[in-house]
Amino acid sequence: MTSRCDVAVVGAGIAGLTAAALLADQGLEVVLLEAHSQSGGCAGTFRRGPYTFDVGATQVAGFEPGGSHARLFRHFGLPLPAARPLDPGCSVRLAGEPELIRLWRDPERWRQERQRQFPGSERFWQLCAWLHHGTWGFAGRDPVLPPRNAWDLGQLLSALDPGTLASGVFATATVADLLVLCGCGADHRLRRFLDLQLRLYSQEPADRTAALYGATVLAMAQEPLGLWHLQGSMQRLSEPLEQALTAAGGQLRLRHRLTGLRRLGLGWQLEGQGPGQRSFRLEATEVVCSLPPQALPQLLGDALPAGYDRRLSSFPDPSGALVLYGAVVRERLPADLGLHAQLDWADPGSLFVSLSAEGDGRAPAGQATVIASVFTPARPWFDLAEPAYQQRKQQAMAGIQAGLRELLGLEPVDWLHAELATPRGFAGWTGRPFGFVGGLGQHPSRFGPFGLASRTPLPGLWLCGDGIHPGEGTAGVSLSALMACRQLLAARGRELRLRETPVAAPGSG
Ligand SMILES: Cc1cc2nc3c(=O)[nH]c(=O)nc-3n(C[C@H](O)[C@H](O)[C@H](O)COP(=O)(O)OP(=O)(O)OC[C@H]3O[C@@H](n4cnc5c(N)ncnc54)[C@H](O)[C@@H]3O)c2cc1C
Repeated sequence: MTSRCDVAVVGAGIAGLTAAALLADQGLEVVLLEAHSQSGGCAGTFRRGPYTFDVGATQVAGFEPGGSHARLFRHFGLPLPAARPLDPGCSVRLAGEPELIRLWRDPERWRQERQRQFPGSERFWQLCAWLHHGTWGFAGRDPVLPPRNAWDLGQLLSALDPGTLASGVFATATVADLLVLCGCGADHRLRRFLDLQLRLYSQEPADRTAALYGATVLAMAQEPLGLWHLQGSMQRLSEPLEQALTAAGGQLRLRHRLTGLRRLGLGWQLEGQGPGQRSFRLEATEVVCSLPPQALPQLLGDALPAGYDRRLSSFPDPSGALVLYGAVVRERLPADLGLHAQLDWADPGSLFVSLSAEGDGRAPAGQATVIASVFTPARPWFDLAEPAYQQRKQQAMAGIQAGLRELLGLEPVDWLHAELATPRGFAGWTGRPFGFVGGLGQHPSRFGPFGLASRTPLPGLWLCGDGIHPGEGTAGVSLSALMACRQLLAARGRELRLRETPVAAPGSG
């Protein structure tokens, strides 16, 4: 049977949930299609025995007043989920060094830490801070990037101010260029630290990360911004968005996998597999797609314009991820690490480690979950025959556990639980082609004004998610959803302004 709606939103990760809730709240008839049996996508969770594991995202930005999640939750009249600020935001261990570099939440404490760790680098940090101030104010005025028509351009121009224009001089520079400019080009230790931190958010090291993007990444852990650890699980972020959607009359259809997207008259026809392998059809005037852009060729087939197809295939492959989900007795963990750490590690690669906090709902009392993720080229994992795949998986698991022995002192007997997800697992969980994660990367040729637009060349097809400005992370994809919804509504002659509904302050968990 075919059903109809104003807007079909595809994918109930944070981007799709946000877009669907915003449009339903504006009175549009919205259907949100989600392949999985739960929402959240890369910011979802799964249970194993007594443990709750965050699948991908483990920490959130954008909870500060004026931050993207804070603004959107206020708009929906919802309190932010209970969360504790991370201090340090991250503890970084460089290869062969016993001491940790701690990204303290207090800016002054962080200044003292970095001056001690990286003497002579203060000019670099000051330049980054100046660039961040220019671009952050701009980002808060909801620019449309990259612009594709007069309305987009108007939104972009009205978000500019002298600070943004001045920092725009660095639009094509990389973070490594800033190092050279500030006389720190030969500081290999600083460079290694930056490579580790930047890759977490931009998929790229310092010599391939846009300076304007990197400057904000490097300010992320400190007040007035900051990073938060959610009480319960990452699912606490998607649940209220689901509520906002259904309260506004929108529908979330779980276990509905989109397989084809066709133009039909002035609108769209969506086809796919519903529960019990039953096929479904849905007609929509417009479609907001939150899937990675690499999914579009298969969904659109011949409907994809050749030039757009070439543009999509010109993007290099994003990374895949290897993620170890484990659990240990808490007293086996170092007490002074904080909840997030990075280890410069060779095989299978540098680790990003997230620990649960006592009483945060992820592990029984006295135990902790340990999640360690590593970027990996995704495609090679799909070429392997089953025995070779299993062998490679075991090697990766052993390499990650060796890293965790180095960082946390965990011995093989300490593991109460340990399992590994590869890009194959991520492809299955998130429906992302090759399990790609993290968007298109923030190389100067692909970030902001040079990135992929939410407005596609196909009328009534809009994109959001981590391939769209401002990029990966739950805070970023929420903004991409807001941008696409503002464009969609503007095309209908309507303006979307976020409300400042007073809500109760969030608990600290
Ligand atoms: C290992 C890892 C660690 C990370 N750590 C952090 C972190 O600490 N902090 C942070 O902010 N971000 C982090 N991120 C990034 C963050 O999780 C993502 O950028 C963000 O969650 C992406 O949201 P999205 O809505 O764009 O996409 P997704 O979360 O991928 O959502 C897309 C949704 O679409 C569904 N879907 C796919 N195909 C179909 C189809 N054909 N039909 C219907 N539905 C479909 C999927 O099931 C999924 O629910 C991490 C990511 C990974 C992988």
